Amino acid sequence: MSFTLHGIAVTSGIAIGHAHLISHTSLEVAHYVLPKQFLDEEVARFDAALLATRNEFSILRSNRPTYAAAEFDAFLELHQMILDDPLLSVAPREMIVSEQCNAEWALKVHAETLQAQFDEFEDAYLRERQTDVKQVAERLLKQLLGHPGHVLPQARHDVELILVAHDLSPADLIQFKPHQYAAFITDLGGATSHTSIVARSLNTPCVVGLRNARELIREDDMLILDGERGVLIVNPDKPILAEYRLRQSEWELERKKLKRLRTARASTLDGNLIELFANIEKPEDISEVKENGATGVGLFRSEFLFLNRDDLPDEEEQFEAYRSVAAGMEGQPVVIRTFDLGADKQIKGAERVANNPALGLRAIRLCLAEPHLFRTQLRALLRASHYGNIKILIPMLSGVSELNQTLHFVEATKQGLDEEGIPYNGDVKIGGMIEIPAAALALNVFAKRLDFLSIGTNDLIQYTLAIDRTDEEVAHLYDPLHPAILHLLSQVILTSKKLGVPISVCGEMAGELAYTRLLLGFGLRQFSMISAQVPSVKQRVLTTSLPEVAALTQKILRTDEPMKIRELLEKLNA
Ligand code: PEP
Ligand code: MG
Repeated sequence: MSFTLHGIAVTSGIAIGHAHLISHTSLEVAHYVLPKQFLDEEVARFDAALLATRNEFSILRSNRPTYAAAEFDAFLELHQMILDDPLLSVAPREMIVSEQCNAEWALKVHAETLQAQFDEFEDAYLRERQTDVKQVAERLLKQLLGHPGHVLPQARHDVELILVAHDLSPADLIQFKPHQYAAFITDLGGATSHTSIVARSLNTPCVVGLRNARELIREDDMLILDGERGVLIVNPDKPILAEYRLRQSEWELERKKLKRLRTARASTLDGNLIELFANIEKPEDISEVKENGATGVGLFRSEFLFLNRDDLPDEEEQFEAYRSVAAGMEGQPVVIRTFDLGADKQIKGAERVANNPALGLRAIRLCLAEPHLFRTQLRALLRASHYGNIKILIPMLSGVSELNQTLHFVEATKQGLDEEGIPYNGDVKIGGMIEIPAAALALNVFAKRLDFLSIGTNDLIQYTLAIDRTDEEVAHLYDPLHPAILHLLSQVILTSKKLGVPISVCGEMAGELAYTRLLLGFGLRQFSMISAQVPSVKQRVLTTSLPEVAALTQKILRTDEPMKIRELLEKLNA
């Protein structure tokens, strides 16, 4: 019987193959009472399983593949931390003795308590970490039950296999990769789970959050996975299969062609050069920037250096991170944003409770409220500017006095470095993010004092439409095609052009193919996006004629009917 399931799209691409189910250990275990004389033995059994799980992590670490080293290290570190949490490593031992219960039961009870603690977090990313807790507990449970680790299924070479699991840990995913699975699907997981992050980095089609796929699919069922749409078709009929085979070969051909564009210049049909930069979070990301042919870093979200750790990066650590990116990019521009902490990105131990975190002490507001942190970062940035083409970007500017204070900080930091005879680029460019409607509407004020501007559409849309971008309840209202957004974007781009101040877009819109021509039509010439999107956006640029899109873009701006706007956009992208 043919049926279709819908999940969360993680990595695009089409995979067609036979289902290979992998078993999972659920935390549903038996509970039994032990006679007192067996308790020491039971505690020793728990300790042995704990030790064996730690050893498993060491083996995983030493066998870690080079193609996803950074993600793998981060996930291993997290899983080891979870294993060392007293709730998993100490409390079950105590419960075995106090309640005279079996080790599996003690583990299950405490794993669920720890999961429940993660469930309380407001932050979606932290909430999703309960999946990691479950994965660690399952690993430990497998040791207790005497079948350690996941058994790698035998890959068959005659057919493509799609791995079907209730849940997959990032380690499983990495282990399965050399076995050449065509795709991965899981019942659990969200778009920001570590498994999804690793799947993306492996570039293998993947759909998560399919809820009960593992239950509904049988071994060897024929599957079609449409990674782009997050759709899974089970036992498709012949015409559907034929259609997807065609789409799959078109998609593969397209990817091959796109790869050839790596060194091509992103030039429109009428000969205008468009700059396509990449967004990064960590210095290691620059290998991907280069692989995808981006010609600079348009947004280095420096706050990621401050997250997931108990201490703060000092001046030397920050200097080395910024210097290595600048040196690695070999003279190409590297725009480093001063830390955008606060709201959903908080430093450990300094979490603030605010009624409206997105409207609170965030980004530049936090920098100015914590001058020692800001000064340290500015010193590191200025020092690193001596070693490459670094530009400094200020997030979330809303008013003139804030901007003046920021520029004053930069000057004072330069003076300090002068006095110490430390070299830096005296002409380092300072830019501002336009992501608050006030800044967009009073652009002159910012353009006059800054060297360049960058539109953060993620926040600009959030603040203009009053929609919390982290709240799934209002996600459907988050609309880049809202007439207010279109007018704001076109005005900001036009005004900055008139004033002669370079402007880019570094929010998600810049990497979405649907909006490439629209933004070009507004006059945008610099885009910054996730590295993987650069080849397809480049291809769109190569097939675009600016005079042709200009007329249609103006028509879109004159329309305020949502349906009509979408119709015209389709025409623009045809
Ligand atoms: C934006 O707001 O569009 C942006 C690029 O910044 P972030 O997503 O980091 O807030
Ligand atoms: Mg932003």
